[in-house]
Amino acid sequence: MTRVLVVEDDPAIGRLLRRSLADRGDVVTVAIDGASGLALAVQDRPEIVLLDLGLPDLDGLQVLRMLRAVSQVPVIVVTAQDDDRTVVEALDNGADDYLLKPFGSDQLAARIRAVLRRCAVGAASGETVRVGELEVDLATRQVSCEGHALDLSRKEFDLLWLLASRSGEVVTKREMLADVWGLPFGGGDRTVDVHLSWLRRKLGETAAQPRYLHTVRGVGVRLSAPASETL
Ligand code: CA
Repeated sequence: MTRVLVVEDDPAIGRLLRRSLADRGDVVTVAIDGASGLALAVQDRPEIVLLDLGLPDLDGLQVLRMLRAVSQVPVIVVTAQDDDRTVVEALDNGADDYLLKPFGSDQLAARIRAVLRRCAVGAASGETVRVGELEVDLATRQVSCEGHALDLSRKEFDLLWLLASRSGEVVTKREMLADVWGLPFGGGDRTVDVHLSWLRRKLGETAAQPRYLHTVRGVGVRLSAPASETL
C-alpha cells in the first residue's frame, strides 16, 4: 500500500489512474492543478507523486522545481510530450522517472515499483542526504557543496546533519540545542546563532541572502535547495 498523489487536470485520466492504483491497494489523492498539487504534496506527505506536465495553472516543470525546493518525494512525470528536451528538463529538475502518455496500468505499476525500490536503496544505504548541490554523509562525516568539500567542525557537522536530514521542515532552536548540544531546556540560543553563521559562511551564503539555510523568524531554520533562478 503506497500513498500516491496524482497531479492531473484531465478528469478521465485522473479517474483511470485512481482506479488502476486503487486496484493495487494504493491510497490515491488526485489534485487537478499545480497549486493544489504542491499544497497536498507538503500536507499529505505522499510516498510518490505522479505529475502531469500540462496543467491549467502552472507549468508542470515549474511545479517540479517548487516541489524540489521543499521535498525529496519521488516524482514520476507524466507527459504526452515525448520530445527529448522536455524529458531531459524534467529529469534535470529532479524527476525520478517519466511516463509517456498513453501508457498501460502494468507499465505504470512497474515504474512506480522501480522508483520506490531505487529510493529505498538510497535511503537505507545511507545515511547520505542530498539537497540540491549539497551532500552530507553521516558515515564519513563529509560534506560537499557544488562539488567542493567543506571543512566543518564537529558541532557544525552535527547541526548541518540535523537540518539536512529534515530538509524542507523547520527545525526549532530548541530542537537544535537538544539534538546537537544536549541542552533540551534552552539556554544556548547564542551558541546556535554563532554556529549557524559559521555554517552559512562555509556554504557561501548570509542570513540576508540565504541559499540553503532559511530563517523562519521566531520559529527556527529550514534547510532547502536554493530556489531556481527562473522562478
Ligand atoms: Ca494535462
